[in-house]
Amino acid sequence: MIQCILDKAVAGERISAEEGLELIASRDLAAIGRAADAVTRRLHPEPIRTYNIDRNINYTNICSAVCDFCAFYRRPKHPEGYVLPREVLLEKVRETVELGGDQILMQGGLHPDFKLEWYEELLQDIRSHFPQVNLHAFSPPELHAFTKVNKLTIRTEGEERDGSTERAELQLLWTRSFARWWDVVAGARADFAPGPDKNWAAFGVQGLAPYRFDLEATAFFSDGGDSAARIEADYDLLIGKRLILQPQLELNWYGQTDLSRGQSAGLSSGEAALRLRYEIRREVAPYIGLVHERLWGDNADAMRAAGREADDTSLVAGIRLRF
Ligand code: SF4
Repeated sequence: MIQCILDKAVAGERISAEEGLELIASRDLAAIGRAADAVTRRLHPEPIRTYNIDRNINYTNICSAVCDFCAFYRRPKHPEGYVLPREVLLEKVRETVELGGDQILMQGGLHPDFKLEWYEELLQDIRSHFPQVNLHAFSPPELHAFTKVNKLTIRTEGEERDGSTERAELQLLWTRSFARWWDVVAGARADFAPGPDKNWAAFGVQGLAPYRFDLEATAFFSDGGDSAARIEADYDLLIGKRLILQPQLELNWYGQTDLSRGQSAGLSSGEAALRLRYEIRREVAPYIGLVHERLWGDNADAMRAAGREADDTSLVAGIRLRF
């Protein structure tokens, strides 16, 4: 069936795109291989073949893709995760060159915290030390991941109780790396409940603190002159490949008291949570959990005066989406 197409190629004629598709669909690798060998022998009848001497260097095994077939990757924060120090990586290239190698095949996991500059510096370092080495670097999934490094972060929080919305908030943040593991964030926050809508400008940092805590620290300033700050810390405890237990702590400060919004000047509210999530994919993870909330200051007094508790523990369920 495909032989007439292969004969055409072996004779030096161009094949069409449709014929190419037909070859792929045939899955007849042996016949295609024989034809390719015949073309090679026609173009290069001399009995000489050349090979690249190259070395595979995997600069990191940390990967956020979680491909089921892959035994190489380690999740971010996994104790066996590694990133080759630059001097180690350059030493591997030097060893290759000294053994007569002329090419580096360089691939790694899709590290969620590396910005484009990290890869640019990596390539510049190799090129400046070993200009003679051919770099065969990065797989299509890595290149796709690079397109996501300057990202827009969307944070949203909401709380529904007895059919009414007690808290709803949306943050849109431009995110840019300023140090390894750390981003600066800037953008806007809109509060929809409680009280009337309110808009804030937001500035802060987010990243991986010592002991592998994820930390977010954000300051907010409203057009009415109000100020606020929030710190959030969480930690991922891997129970299984996709099952993660996450302790989390959040504290909120406000510059002014505004009881219509449940805000007290000073330390106003806090939340300690324990969530268990199952990552269908890293981006999509349903969870269940226990959340303990506590109010302080005028806000707590107002809540008690209304006959309610200033702290509360509830069972929560939801879905975590990350893009
Ligand atoms: S993207 Fe590559 S390193 Fe990451 S899990 Fe998939 S195959 Fe493994």
